[in-house]
Amino acid sequence: MNMSVAEMTMTEDVDSEERNFKRGTPNTVLHIDDVHKSFAGLHALSDVDLEVREGETHAIIGPNGAGKSTLLNVCVGRLKPDLGAVVFNGQVLTGKSPHEINQLGVARVFQTPEVFPDLTVLENVMVPALSRRDGSFTLNPFRRFSSERAIREEAESVLESVGLQAQLTTHASNMSRGDKRRLELAMGLIQHPRLLLLDEPTAGMARHDTNATIDLLMKIKEGGMTKVIIEHDMHVVFSLADRISVLAGGRIIAQGTPDEVKNNPKVKEAYLGEEQV
Ligand code: ADP
Ligand code: MG
Repeated sequence: MNMSVAEMTMTEDVDSEERNFKRGTPNTVLHIDDVHKSFAGLHALSDVDLEVREGETHAIIGPNGAGKSTLLNVCVGRLKPDLGAVVFNGQVLTGKSPHEINQLGVARVFQTPEVFPDLTVLENVMVPALSRRDGSFTLNPFRRFSSERAIREEAESVLESVGLQAQLTTHASNMSRGDKRRLELAMGLIQHPRLLLLDEPTAGMARHDTNATIDLLMKIKEGGMTKVIIEHDMHVVFSLADRISVLAGGRIIAQGTPDEVKNNPKVKEAYLGEEQV
């Protein structure tokens, strides 16, 4: 374990470029470096070390309570790790706010959809696009009207890609959970993030909607966007992932291609009593 990383992330006056963290290979987009996180003595994450490569779809799987959502929350700055650091394109994210991390190009689609309930579908998708342009969450009507039209057009096109084109004026509060997820995905996509983190994007969706979402994620994959996806549905995982990391009890117990992971006895054991891998 590399204690110096945690110590250094707490030292504000050390330039991040000087820090002695492991940067991984040159095409590493995200490096989760020996992260630990406990909740009142419960080790939700221990020694978690994971590299996400440029352009890959990296799935994180594992039984319920394995620490998957905790790990994503550490990546997006919602939780601070007790030890370790998260490095994105050579920059230490640990210690930055969720908003700062988002501005650096990390977007997320969470397990519980987080949309603006009082805004329409179209407005929901315009907010992150305007925020990206303006550097803060504002819907300022006095700034650059012309580009607002372009953003609106892009929002409509992204909403079409997630199948919500018929609901542009629906208030988000009136949508089903599955539709809210698709809306949140559109809110992530319009940011053109360098890294998209998805926490169970198909949970609670009917098979038809799950398939439509997989098709969409496949399309995004062809576009080369780097993604980390937490997913319970093995059909989704094996259709999408280039590499898989398996978490169990807060530790990475296996890592590799879908075939390697599928045949790993430790993984089978971790899933005993759960679903089939
Ligand atoms: P997963 O997403 O893999 O199902 P989580 O990351 O949500 O797992 O949870 C990992 C463990 O940490 C679980 O035992 C969960 O109860 C616990 N946990 C998660 N968040 C908190 C929290 N905010 N406070 C206390 N315990 C938590
Ligand atoms: Mg979870």
